[in-house]
Amino acid sequence: MIFTSPFPSIAQPPAQDLASFIFDHAETRSAFGANPSLPALTDHATMQSFMDVQRMADRFASGLVNSLGLQRGDMIAVLIPNSAYYPAIVLGALMAGLVCATANPAYTIGETTHVLNLSEAKAVIATEQNLPTVLKAIEDSDTYIMRHRILTIDGRENTVHSVLSDKPYTRIRLATAEQARNTPAFLLLSSGTTGLPKGVLLSHANIASNILQMAIMEAHDPHIAAAERLARQQAHMSCLPFFHSYGLVLVLLLSIAKGHHQIVMAKFDLEQFCILAERHKVVAAQLVPPIIIQLAKNPIVDKYDLSNLMYIGSAAAPLSRETQAEARARLGCCIMQAYGLSETSPASHRARIHGTPEGSIGYLAPSMECMIIGDSGERLGTDELGEICMRGPNVMMGYFKNAQATAQTIDKDGFLHTGDIGRVDDNGFYYIVDRKKELIKYKGYQVAPAELEGLLMDHPAVLDAAVIQAYDRAQETEIPKAFVVVRPSFNSVGIADDIKAWVAERVAHYKALRGGVELVDSIPKSASGKILRRVLRDIEARRLQTA
Ligand code: AMP
Repeated sequence: MIFTSPFPSIAQPPAQDLASFIFDHAETRSAFGANPSLPALTDHATMQSFMDVQRMADRFASGLVNSLGLQRGDMIAVLIPNSAYYPAIVLGALMAGLVCATANPAYTIGETTHVLNLSEAKAVIATEQNLPTVLKAIEDSDTYIMRHRILTIDGRENTVHSVLSDKPYTRIRLATAEQARNTPAFLLLSSGTTGLPKGVLLSHANIASNILQMAIMEAHDPHIAAAERLARQQAHMSCLPFFHSYGLVLVLLLSIAKGHHQIVMAKFDLEQFCILAERHKVVAAQLVPPIIIQLAKNPIVDKYDLSNLMYIGSAAAPLSRETQAEARARLGCCIMQAYGLSETSPASHRARIHGTPEGSIGYLAPSMECMIIGDSGERLGTDELGEICMRGPNVMMGYFKNAQATAQTIDKDGFLHTGDIGRVDDNGFYYIVDRKKELIKYKGYQVAPAELEGLLMDHPAVLDAAVIQAYDRAQETEIPKAFVVVRPSFNSVGIADDIKAWVAERVAHYKALRGGVELVDSIPKSASGKILRRVLRDIEARRLQTA
């Protein structure tokens, strides 16, 4: 059976480029109630009005073309934390006809090299802090990037500011739906269902469609509509990383399109979050489960007045029913789940403020179709558990320069196979219950087991290794754990801790083996040599039950 969305479809993907779509949309929306005295973004220290974003994006686009000599279709790697500059940088790059590869600024040299090789970036935006890493990564990568095309947002020279220009340039505008569908806008990292992180290529139409899909769902929820009216007078919190699809589209771009006032936090800190939420009378925030568990349990929260909060969105990782109920009771506001993937730009499902059963990710987004398939690919009916597969205007163009991975993920009928296991009930509410793909999600961040296994095999003492997800109950998050076979010539005393520390030095903090390193005699494998992760996960699950 193919399930459809209960909402009216979006007419068709906008026949516009994303920057024009967002700025036009924002102008129309702000005519209907946005408070003109409020800025678009407040960045702890800086205040920027909405016009500043558009104006700065325009001046940055001119600099990219006139000073940096970048050309239509070139990739630019954006490796910075959340800042008020972010929207101007990415929208400016799109206006110049570039494609933005956004990635984690905390990446190590090896990880940054992977981003540069994958994207073939011709320019980089960095910070003073990660500049040495970026420079070394450029040296190690297959790409050559001229020094004047490496900018920082906070340095003394070669900065984003120093290239802003009023010189005329040809702003790239897309005028047909087909152009918008076929022109890439963003390259995001995701390991998909298997293997190493790949480049998810999203078109201008993919992202504009997702913004429209969310707008339709919100318009059909009277409670969200009320919160939205208030949000245009008050504020939304932006503390999820903008380099990830959730922060980029559902927080940053969606908020700009709606003319919201956003409070931008570079890094989440609970007390800071509470202070800002109280001070700015924040009405809504998009968060991830490990933050929601802090809001549900940490005594700091009691010191602040968070009564303006009308709803909190939770996505990017599973949220337990208990935490959802606890946070709702404590904060007196709805905790509303959404679900999606970088590959669906990102949201494919979203709950309503009221009337969605606890634990559900809500309804399927407009213009999407969904099938739930069994082990032999057969289509299942309601209340049957299987892999969630979806198609719609927000499904990615494909994995960049990786036709094989694209063909393994998007079938010949255009359905994206998510690797997530779930079901839909008779009322159209969806539930995610498990994940069959390899991916581990640490606090919403992707950790690809294959990447850590590859790294472990470089350790001189490691003969064989497998990485799976363990679970940290207190923080309500999956954590990576390694099973390792040590070479007989090595003394195994203390080696597990050594290997754990060795890995931590070579990866971004969230990929550290927080679940530990367990020494084993052998790694369970299939006849064809594939790691039988399910066997290891079952062992781990049994331990968790008895702990
Ligand atoms: P990403 O591409 O980093 O956004 O990761 C997408 C994956 O995160 C999905 O395939 C799911 O495994 C997981 N995910 C996202 N939202 C949820 C949710 N609400 N509940 C459970 N898992 C989720």
